[in-house]
Amino acid sequence: MKRSFQYNTTAMAIAIGLIAVSTIVLSSFSNVLWAGKDYLVDTTITQSTIKLATQTVDRIEQKIIDNDNIISGTIDIDEPVTWPASVDLIKKGDYNVDQVFIFRLDSSYPLYPPYSKGIANSWDKFRTSFKELSRSALVVNQTNHLHKERADNYRFASYVLKEDRRGERYLIFFEINLEKTLAILGRYLRDLQPDFNVSVVDFDNVGILPNAVSISRNAKYFWETRFPTTLYKWLLQVVPRNYTEMEQNARNQRRVNLFLTLMSMIMIFLSLAIIYVVGRRERQLTQLKEDFISNVSHELKTPLSLIRMFSEILVTNRVKNEEARQEYYSIIHSESDRMSRLVANLLDFARLERERHSLHFEKANVAQLVVKELEAYRYQMQKEGFELITRVDGDVPDTIIDPTAISMALFNLLDNAVKYSSEKKQVVVSVSRSNGFVELAVKDEGMGIPEAERQRIFDKFFRGSGAGIRKIRGSGIGLTITRQVAEMHGGEILVESEIGRGSTFTLKIPIRAEPVAASTN
Ligand code: ADP
Repeated sequence: MKRSFQYNTTAMAIAIGLIAVSTIVLSSFSNVLWAGKDYLVDTTITQSTIKLATQTVDRIEQKIIDNDNIISGTIDIDEPVTWPASVDLIKKGDYNVDQVFIFRLDSSYPLYPPYSKGIANSWDKFRTSFKELSRSALVVNQTNHLHKERADNYRFASYVLKEDRRGERYLIFFEINLEKTLAILGRYLRDLQPDFNVSVVDFDNVGILPNAVSISRNAKYFWETRFPTTLYKWLLQVVPRNYTEMEQNARNQRRVNLFLTLMSMIMIFLSLAIIYVVGRRERQLTQLKEDFISNVSHELKTPLSLIRMFSEILVTNRVKNEEARQEYYSIIHSESDRMSRLVANLLDFARLERERHSLHFEKANVAQLVVKELEAYRYQMQKEGFELITRVDGDVPDTIIDPTAISMALFNLLDNAVKYSSEKKQVVVSVSRSNGFVELAVKDEGMGIPEAERQRIFDKFFRGSGAGIRKIRGSGIGLTITRQVAEMHGGEILVESEIGRGSTFTLKIPIRAEPVAASTN
């Protein structure tokens, strides 16, 4: 048992160590142990700014690419007759397409739209662009973009290579409306604007969007990023509007993280402590039960072997003289008495444990009961060399009690007084009235009870730990029975003690005229 105690303590120490180490590692990894490390705050804000800018660019790109896929899928390259209708559909739709040109890859002669005066202007524009297309690197059905600076403005187009059934290759070119594209950009950037200054610029740092704010590249937490495949001539620039507030928030966040980490550590420690305490109690109880069984076995074995020994001598008539015979008889008598007292006590204990309400209350007088019981006990005590002094006040009133239970408690107290007395063999039993209680006190001049054990002596199976006590027979249930009796009467049991000077146990029973519901504690 001792060994398992040791085991558990070691296991607990290891667990606590592990928790402490993992908490420290966790804290430093999550940058919570940051005192004075402001660069960590900077890193957090920079990281979130970069993340936001990249996400926004990705969303815009995705929107354009999705658009491209829809419009390129609308044109069936195998059915030229459907082209005018499809192009019409595209132009009318919400795809920002101004014009569509379809031509064979190996010629700059348009198949669609057929050349006419009306498109002369845009056709010319297109022909210039045509030379800029990277035609050799094209992949079938993959959308590409043309983003060019012109004298008047920027130009944006998407184009795709298609192959018909016969393996003929065509290029479809979608001229995209710039204003409408800028409007889409504006819509996406609006989400950022509450917290960031946002701008879209070209490589000369000239703002593209209407009402553009100009952002200094030296601003704290400034970040810019390109549109990788679509509007590749432009850059998105962002800078937090109110970074002092953001810095404060980041700092607070870190404080909260630290607090939460410490809190969870404390919670884990608390849980461990609870598990430890509960486990310890459990183990103590098991230990007490084991002691109890061995104590009781011993208690029964000793008188039994004495009875057997002396009865055998008597039966085989090996007695020296009449005096010895009488002595053997009295040993057999007292040992069997001792055994039956122990068995009775065990049965009482079991009964009280089982049926806590099993008392039979009646109106009786504690003083008279004690005097009567002591008459029978006095002889036995005197035989053991004890002086029994009885002090009974005359004004003790009748009250509602279970006389058998009170006698049981009295005998347990007397038994202890006798057992735990050494040189001075004197026991005083007194019954008095005090503040609505009848007080039955048993005082001895014995060895006394150490302060640390004074509360625990009433616990089930508890026995004193002193070497002197261990030698004295006992099962650790006498005082438990006494306390249960007190509580069942709505009263209590008190102890006063001084080491080497003796102890006084006082059983307090409330004075009642009528029975009340018994306490079940
Ligand atoms: P037991 O006497 O069988 O051990 P009890 O429940 O009656 O069990 O008492 C519990 C413990 O309280 C005892 O083991 C002893 O240490 C202590 N004790 C009880 N009564 C006295 C007393 N009168 N003087 C000193 N110690 C006492």
